[in-house]
Amino acid sequence: MHDPISQSVNDLIRRQDPEIADLMAHEADRQQFTLELIASENHVSPAVMHAMGTCLTNKYAEGYPGARYYGGCEFHDRIESLAIARACDLFKCRFANVQPHSGAQANTAAFMAVMKPGETFASLILKDGGHLSHGMSLNFSGVYHKPVHYPLHYDQSHPEFEQIDYDAAMAVCTEHKPKVVMCGYSAYPRTIDFARFRKIADACGALLIADIAHIAGLVAAGVHPSPFPHAHVVTTTTHKTLRGPRGGLILTNEEDLIKKINRAVFPGVQGGPLMHVIASKAVAFGEALRPEFKDYARRVVANARALAKGLISRGYRITSGGTDNHLMLVDLRPKSADLTGHDAENWLGKAGIVVNKNGIPNDPRPPKLTSGLRLGTPALTTRGLSERDMDAVAGLIDEVLAGGGDEAVCASVRERVRHLCEKHPLPGVEAAAPVGNL
Ligand SMILES: *Cc1c(COP(=O)(O)O)cnc(C)c1O
Repeated sequence: MHDPISQSVNDLIRRQDPEIADLMAHEADRQQFTLELIASENHVSPAVMHAMGTCLTNKYAEGYPGARYYGGCEFHDRIESLAIARACDLFKCRFANVQPHSGAQANTAAFMAVMKPGETFASLILKDGGHLSHGMSLNFSGVYHKPVHYPLHYDQSHPEFEQIDYDAAMAVCTEHKPKVVMCGYSAYPRTIDFARFRKIADACGALLIADIAHIAGLVAAGVHPSPFPHAHVVTTTTHKTLRGPRGGLILTNEEDLIKKINRAVFPGVQGGPLMHVIASKAVAFGEALRPEFKDYARRVVANARALAKGLISRGYRITSGGTDNHLMLVDLRPKSADLTGHDAENWLGKAGIVVNKNGIPNDPRPPKLTSGLRLGTPALTTRGLSERDMDAVAGLIDEVLAGGGDEAVCASVRERVRHLCEKHPLPGVEAAAPVGNL
């Protein structure tokens, strides 16, 4: 699908800076001709993409609409106000801060708004699906706060095997009395029961923060339950299932909380907002408010189910027995006892199937190896792949893994991957120049 704006932008950069233009062309080629199964990635529309490459990047707009520290912000005020109004519309809440540069920044600011250094919060055991900003020892959340963790059900005979153990979460929280209970994850394939988490938070006098970074697009489209009215604060990225530019977002219904959140974002953890990215967020929120986006989100979930089914039928185990959302964790061991996520990721990469290795719940292998893969369907669904294609993708994955990384098998699969990609081109992603060797 030809996008003349991308083409002319690429040509312009090539004239001035061929070195960077070449690398960008190679990346465009990679995106255009590989199957993107990384659950946290997506392909934005040309409008979302081009909103970022604009003169808005030239402006300092520290502060908030109507209360800036710089002159000349009248249009920036209106752009940011629109982004806020659309975010509130989309998530059906009263207040939004659209300035966080990323999801991790959104969490940093949310923590700063509601906790003092040294205070305790509760989150899922990180290696079982949590995010590093939920208490990893090297992250601000682990350095400046005291994380306590709740588990999944690890007992195979439990009907909710590998799903959140809400009773254990309640026990951890009543014991440690955290200031904040965090829910929302990076590698959790099941529906989150926000009402149940609110009960846990209420029982220990904590605030509930729902980090919906992964599922924001599904929540916006109504295919995953909303964290509102249960969560006090909702944080998210804008670039995963929500299909906007790389960035963060914080939402709440409470006026006293938004005041604290706004102070925590600026001047707490950030300086000037990225106004070109905020304009792009507004464009993405506008897209997500359209009926087509609901249909997109439904297809993302249907595709994830179809992919899981295709893998199960080929002898793989999907943790927790399946998926309710856009992602799944594949346990490779039932297929081949000594296959690691590390090898699987590398072999699939050679075949043009881009995935990431991921620990599975209670994984005996270290994070550099792992026993699993995390697969997600947001990007493939954006480029128009259907449920029937998902079974074919499961077949291609199996062919590579069963082939043990054999070069000829990878090359043969790569041909078919390229063919599938050619049938489903990505608008706005093109090299605009020959892609030779680097
Ligand atoms: C991706 C993710 C984030 C962080 O997003 P960045 O934009 O990479 O900082 C935060 N929380 C969760 C649960 C995530 O999955």
